Amino acid sequence: CANFQKLNSVSKGCSDYVSSPYNIRVLQWNILSQALGVMNDNFARCPDNALDWNFRRYRIVEEIVQYFPDIVCLQEVDHFNFLKHVLGTQGYEGMFFPKPDSPCFYIEGNNGPDGCAIFYRKNKFDLVKNENKVLEIWRVQSNQVAVLAVLRIRETGQEVCVATTHLKARQGALLSTLRNEQGKDLLQFVSNHFSNRPTILCGDFNAEPTEPVYETVLNSPSLNLSSAYASCHDYDGLCSAHREPPYTTWKIRDEGEICHTIDYIFYNRNSMEVEAVLDFPSGDEIGQDRVPSYLYPSDHFSLVCYAWVVGLWYISF
Ligand code: NDP
Ligand code: CA
Repeated sequence: CANFQKLNSVSKGCSDYVSSPYNIRVLQWNILSQALGVMNDNFARCPDNALDWNFRRYRIVEEIVQYFPDIVCLQEVDHFNFLKHVLGTQGYEGMFFPKPDSPCFYIEGNNGPDGCAIFYRKNKFDLVKNENKVLEIWRVQSNQVAVLAVLRIRETGQEVCVATTHLKARQGALLSTLRNEQGKDLLQFVSNHFSNRPTILCGDFNAEPTEPVYETVLNSPSLNLSSAYASCHDYDGLCSAHREPPYTTWKIRDEGEICHTIDYIFYNRNSMEVEAVLDFPSGDEIGQDRVPSYLYPSDHFSLVCYAWVVGLWYISF
């Protein structure tokens, strides 16, 4: 499959991959909670003004709409009503589920909890159902959530299932185990609503491809998931074992530079075929202060995948 070559504007590149009833363009992005970004993250090299919500919110919207996504999966959303309003003017409908004990609650001047959101293009899909879940670890509720939507493509009647999550952050063996347990619960949740539909599962898994949860997702017996970026790339041996991109987030905190791959778009390989994914900006394009910045409003990059839906109606042609 091909790469979108660094789409910087609406007119460039996107036209190669026209939206049709037989394909789906998905955007996955941890947009960086406004409260956490300003008060919690301690980005060492990000100008204060780049984190000003009055500036940053329009950069977030611009980043989303420039790729014409059919489906948008977001994490760290703590201004859902703003996004719902603005993306509503662009033809999107959305749903949101907050973290039960969001760290935003503990920040002065917060705008409410952060959580996961899904938006979809209203003229392409009808919403069949929306399900939300607080993820469990050994049957005990955690502070992480998942949002799921079953959408029907209006023109064909084909239903697709899309789910998104933001797993527990931080490093360490125990946390890696906790993420794996959350991953198992997430897969059970998605499996419950799968019904052999073409399925997309994406999010900030807070886990590099070497962590157990990555294998857990790929080995899910019923869902048959593959990673969209790994299916498309061979990064010249940079991550040759799993062929994921070298980074999906790249930031500088006081404790040092953090550059790694923790965000993914997984898809059901029996019913979908990935044709293209969006390239990430290079280190030079990002700049030495890394992100967030004036140009890139989050410390995570947006992932975009363009996939064919191979449903029963398609085979019967
Ligand atoms: P997580 O551990 O999952 O992380 C919460 C957020 O912190 C994520 O959005 C994550 O972003 C970000 N993060 C990750 N690493 C760092 C870092 N090194 N520095 C700054 N931010 C980082 O949190 P939970 O949802 O499990 O919530 C627990 C949190 O809630 C606690 O960590 C605590 O901060 C807060 N809390 C505060 C209380 C208080 O009284 N102040 C009480 C209870 C909770 P990403 O996913 O992009 O890495
Ligand atoms: Ca974050």
